[in-house]
Order: sequence, then structure tokens, then C-alpha cells
Amino acid sequence: MTVKWANNVVLLGGGSPVVIQSMTNTETADVDGTVKQIMELADAGSQLVRITVNTPAAAQAVPLIRQKLDAAGYFVPLVGDFHYNGHKLLSDYPECARSLSKFRINPGNVGKGDKHEQNFKTLIDLAIKYDKPIRIGVNWGSLDQNLLAKMMEENNRQPNPENSGEILRRALVKSAIDSADEAVRLGMPKEQIAISAKVSGVRELVDIYQKLDRLCPYSLHLGLTEAGMGLKGTVSSTAALSILLSQGIGDTIRVSLTPEPGQKRSAEVDLACEIVQSLGLRNFEPKVISCPGCGRTSSLLFQELAKETQSYLKQQMPKWRGKYPGVENMTVAVMGCVVNGPGESRHANIGISLPGSGEAPVSPVYIDGKKVCSLKGEQMASDFKKLIDNYVQTKFGA
Ligand code: SF4
Repeated sequence: MTVKWANNVVLLGGGSPVVIQSMTNTETADVDGTVKQIMELADAGSQLVRITVNTPAAAQAVPLIRQKLDAAGYFVPLVGDFHYNGHKLLSDYPECARSLSKFRINPGNVGKGDKHEQNFKTLIDLAIKYDKPIRIGVNWGSLDQNLLAKMMEENNRQPNPENSGEILRRALVKSAIDSADEAVRLGMPKEQIAISAKVSGVRELVDIYQKLDRLCPYSLHLGLTEAGMGLKGTVSSTAALSILLSQGIGDTIRVSLTPEPGQKRSAEVDLACEIVQSLGLRNFEPKVISCPGCGRTSSLLFQELAKETQSYLKQQMPKWRGKYPGVENMTVAVMGCVVNGPGESRHANIGISLPGSGEAPVSPVYIDGKKVCSLKGEQMASDFKKLIDNYVQTKFGA
């Protein structure tokens, strides 16, 4: 699948690297608030950003959001999220349709009975007319109830929490694949269709995506829906997505975290990038190697330096990305004593080994395996950042 805006082309599926995406939680009609959050998500590494298009005011806001992003040099493609009235909004607001790079369609929320067929066709016709790829995104919270009832009936079951699991999963898979097949029948190229079938249970999600991977040719968008917040959301998302990605299943991912009060929306992008990077599938930012510390650690200095270095690298990435190609593959070591410090530092592109208890109060720095200097004193953190900056410019600059 090709999702593009201006000169920014994001390839999804067909052997391309896993794509990170995210979704805003601002009101789309709030143009400035939405633009600000999209920039934050894009800076964190989100290659596609989905926005809700739920009202005429939201549809009218979409071209304005696009213009402001373009003016600021943010060409991240926008995906419109449609439920219930997408056929109408996209018909009534052609500039909204043109400004989006992809439409997300939930077949469970397209209309009932005859209206379903008619509205779905309108959505597909519009995607073809404006040359936009689509995602057929089913979700167990909004699954087509007629389909579920029919499948229950065929299996002589009444839905209840005990017996509905397997049939529900099969219904989700069927709903996604049938809808995508219908889109193809209506003229949509199959390469321009991605599908997703999200649930909130880890094992269920794994089962569903293994089925989808086996049964259909479409690109797969992975995500554990309603994963929750904090540690629970982080662990559940990591477990589910890691199992699937390590089996080669999934072309794009979104982590759905309920933000904790005060937490930035981009936390979901940070986690998605970490999952993909820790599986060795692709790098988004330099890796900081730091030891856990132990009884040999002489002070908290090394933990503080590790944290500061990690934050600094993350902060620099929006401007380094593109300017210094390959910088995301760099490793930086921050270690706590002589036991593993010099060894790990030599293996990194740039590393520093702080003194453990009883060691001389100096911190040798290694660049590309060779000791180049030692740092000490209060300036150590800023001196180390300067060394990193110099290294990045020399090693990754044009
Ligand atoms: Fe402890 Fe030193 Fe190993 Fe860090 S490098 S965990 S301080 S022994």
C-alpha cells in the first residue's frame, strides 16, 4: 500500500519496514490543538496520524489542519477515521477527502440493512475517485451484530460470555475479510487495502491475526484496542504486538494507551517504536545501553547521566532524522563501573564508564572502540552531550 502526502510516501506491506502510526485525541474541529498534537506525534516518530472525522465541523477543519501542517513542513499523511456518517461527510466535503491520505472504514458502523450496502459502496467509490487507500477496521466493540447473530445461529448457540469467544473471533475475521473482498469487487485495488480486527485480549488478538494472516492477502494493521493505561496497557500491548511481529505478522502498528493525567499523547508512539526497535525490526532512535547498577555503583550520577543522555537523544531526533541518515542506528553506552563499563563502551559508537566505589574519580570516554578522553566534574553531562553532537556530525553528516 502507498500512503502519501506531497513528497512523503509511506509504503505499507510488501516487505516494507513496519510503519508506526497513532491517533489524536483532540477535537478535530479544534484546528490549532489538533495540529499541535499531530506535530508532537510526528516528532515522536509516527509516520501516519489518524484523526476523527465525525461532524461537518471536523470535516471542514481537515483541509485547514493539512494546510497548517504543510506550512510548518510536516508532511505526515493523515488518515480520516469514519463511523456512521463517513459516506455523507466525504460526499459533502470534497476538500476533506482530498486532504486526507487514507480513509478508515469500520464496516460495523456503516449503516444497517440496505443502507449498509449503499453507504459502503459510496465510501469505496469515493476512495477510488480520490485515489486514497483504505483500512477496513473492525473492532469487537462495534462488530456487525447481524453477522454475529447469524454465525451464532449457524452454530446453534446463544451468545454469552462463555461460548461466544471463538465464534466472536471468527465473526471479526469474517467481517474484515468479507468487507475487504467486497471493496475489491467494487473496484478497489487489493494492494490499497489494509485490514485490522482489534480486541482487548492478548491471546484473542494473537489468534485473530494468525487467522487473518493465513486467510487473506491484505496488509495488516495491528493494535490491541482499549489496552488500558500505565503498566497494564504497556505490558499487554508489548506482549500482543511482540508475539505477532516476531512471527512476521503485521505491516503497521498502533499502540492504544489510555493517557494518564498529564501524560503526553506521544507516549503511545514512544512505546510502539520501542517494541519494534527492541525486536530488531527497525531502529527509530539511537540505543542507550546502561547497566542496572549494583553495590559497586558509587553514586546516582551514572543513572542520572543515562537518563539525561536518553532524553537528549530523543529530543534531538526530530531534527537529526533526515539530516543525519543512519543516526538512529547509533549506540551510546553509559555504564556504572570498571567491571563492564570499558567493555560495553568499546562496543558502542560512543560510551562512557563512570567510576564505581573505590575507583579513581574520572570517567573514560570511548569512541568507535578507542579511549579518547576522560570526563569529570559538574560539566560531565554537558561535555558528554558535546562529544555526542560532534560524533553525530562527523559520522552521519553528509
Ligand atoms: Fe555493577 Fe559495574 Fe555491572 Fe554496572 S557495570 S552493574 S556498576 S558491576
